[in-house]
Amino acid sequence: MNEAQLLDLTQPQLAELLSGWGEPPYRARQVWEWLYRKLADDPAQMTNLPAGLRVRLAAETRIDPLEVVYEQRSADRHTTKWLFRLPDGLTIETVLMRYDQRRTVCISTQAGCAMGCVFCATGQAGLARNLTAGEIVAQVLFAARRLASGDLPAPPAAALSAFASLGSLRASSPEFPDEGRGQPTAADAARLTNIVVMGMGEPLANYGRTWQALRTITDPQAFGLGARHITVSTVGLPQGIRRMAEEPLQVNLAVSLHAPNDALRSQLLPVNRRYPIAELMAAVHDYVAKTNRRVTFEYALMDGVNDLPELAHELAALLKPLRSPAGGVLCHVNLIPLNPVAESPYQPSAPEASAEFQAILERSGVPATVRMRRGIDIEAGCGQLRRRVGQIER
Ligand code: SAH
Ligand code: SF4
Repeated sequence: MNEAQLLDLTQPQLAELLSGWGEPPYRARQVWEWLYRKLADDPAQMTNLPAGLRVRLAAETRIDPLEVVYEQRSADRHTTKWLFRLPDGLTIETVLMRYDQRRTVCISTQAGCAMGCVFCATGQAGLARNLTAGEIVAQVLFAARRLASGDLPAPPAAALSAFASLGSLRASSPEFPDEGRGQPTAADAARLTNIVVMGMGEPLANYGRTWQALRTITDPQAFGLGARHITVSTVGLPQGIRRMAEEPLQVNLAVSLHAPNDALRSQLLPVNRRYPIAELMAAVHDYVAKTNRRVTFEYALMDGVNDLPELAHELAALLKPLRSPAGGVLCHVNLIPLNPVAESPYQPSAPEASAEFQAILERSGVPATVRMRRGIDIEAGCGQLRRRVGQIER
């Protein structure tokens, strides 16, 4: 395993590798384009490179660090989930969701997670290691290749129209800025539109590699996806949130709140003992002041635990002050009925309790959406990608 992992390299690092091989400077640009624009996963495909260079790349470098262990599709064909094996044998999950005009990939940033949230399957197993930038980017490229290859069966057209009435809800959420614009063409349908960093792991605990991956993904000379089409979800690490506010890349921030007070939040998310709500919210206020961007709060509704009306009032009071200087609301709450995991006793809230919780938030001036859970038939037994499927695909 001494091969250079090509996807781990920045463009300058790639240029350095190739110039060390005696190649002219423009080769790095060519290889970069093959990797990220033409989605090559084999140097043999890089037909404008000299044969000798292709042979050397094949012998001394590796492109795709992901080996598919299984691919699973939901019965409605909207959702495809992959389990990948990494070069050291660890496994991670990636999910592709296709609804309406969005094709969203949900990617992992760590193998496991150290945060130990009690309702999360990934959290129960602990952290194995951070993913490399290449392993993060590779998940996006893999999904993009599969989309482009056309060998994923199209979701049934009838199911698409069922979502039309949700257009206004979607338009109100910053993660999906391209919602509702015209009909997709065949070429569009083969393209990824959104990325959510909501797979296994805590992205802000693997900050540098996650951002290197996002820079490559958004590089116009590479994959070229707009930063506003990317959402990073965090358990709420204040330093990471402040760092995000300074990033030139305008990716969306989602904060996994799940409880409006420290007593409850510390029970559910042990990290809250280290970074209590006041500290977390101070960082979010700084983020909003700096960026003027709306923050999404994720709230997994658990029956009888965090779904009581008084908690909705408490949550509204906590989030209401998140406003722009002009008075615009700069928060949105995603209410996601919990996806129960085998290791935990928590159960999803009943639909009536979810609706009541949402109504209280809305009446208090805090926009909130209850997300439908979808692709549930392939979610059973998966780390915790299951819930994102609900959240993302409303
Ligand atoms: N570590 C980051 C991103 C990955 S988890 C974070 O916690 O935000 C992505 C989202 O899934 C988080 O909002 C997390 O709270 C939520 N989640 C985890 N397990 C869940 C479950 N069983 N049901 C619903 N949401 C869950
Ligand atoms: Fe980690 Fe997020 Fe799961 Fe918490 S919810 S254990 S932070 S992956």
